[in-house]
Amino acid sequence: MKVTLIPVTPFQQNSSLLVCEATGRAAVVDPGGDLERIEAEVARQNVQIEKVLLTHGHVDHCAGAKALAAHYGVPIEGPHEDERFWLDMLPEQSTRFGFPAAQAFEPDRWLDDGDTVRFGDEELEVYHCPGHTPGHVVFFSRAHRIALVGDVLFAGSIGRTDFPRGNHADLIRSIREKLWPLGNDVTFVPGHGPTSTFGAERRTNPYVADGVPG
Ligand SMILES: [Zn+2]
Ligand SMILES: [Zn+2]
Repeated sequence: MKVTLIPVTPFQQNSSLLVCEATGRAAVVDPGGDLERIEAEVARQNVQIEKVLLTHGHVDHCAGAKALAAHYGVPIEGPHEDERFWLDMLPEQSTRFGFPAAQAFEPDRWLDDGDTVRFGDEELEVYHCPGHTPGHVVFFSRAHRIALVGDVLFAGSIGRTDFPRGNHADLIRSIREKLWPLGNDVTFVPGHGPTSTFGAERRTNPYVADGVPG
């Protein structure tokens, strides 16, 4: 599975193009905006988009999802249904953060812990990881040891929990009980900033390293 990061929006959100190299079929994760950049990369790699996947309902992650899904005629999968209120608030979110006007929408498929998402020959495991937002999900390719974690975890930091229905204890539990068991060797793509590995964060992350209380 080839992963190409396409930072979008003024928040430099890491939208990801995931390509199944065996079939040339692909999925786009978190198309928050700047769709012309995503579409240009899809055209450059000459791949066939099968799905739009969403980690959570914040405007920088999902404001372009409906338009991109319509453009390719594909379904939107994710996040978890507990994220419905954030998707319903997309018009307010876009105004508040100075984004182009975004419409509320419902995905074609809500996801839950233990679900799998497929495109081409690739399979992604779904983990429900509340804390930053209540319906946040993480996508994990067990075959390729890559996780797309949205705003749950960053290189050297963790997601904010001061939004409505954010919860710090839930976030720490999500990271330690859902992500760490996937393995220290797993490379993760965060919603913002550089990639890292779970092992590196367990050694050095000031919020969730092994031995840090909380
Ligand atoms: Zn977020
Ligand atoms: Zn974000």
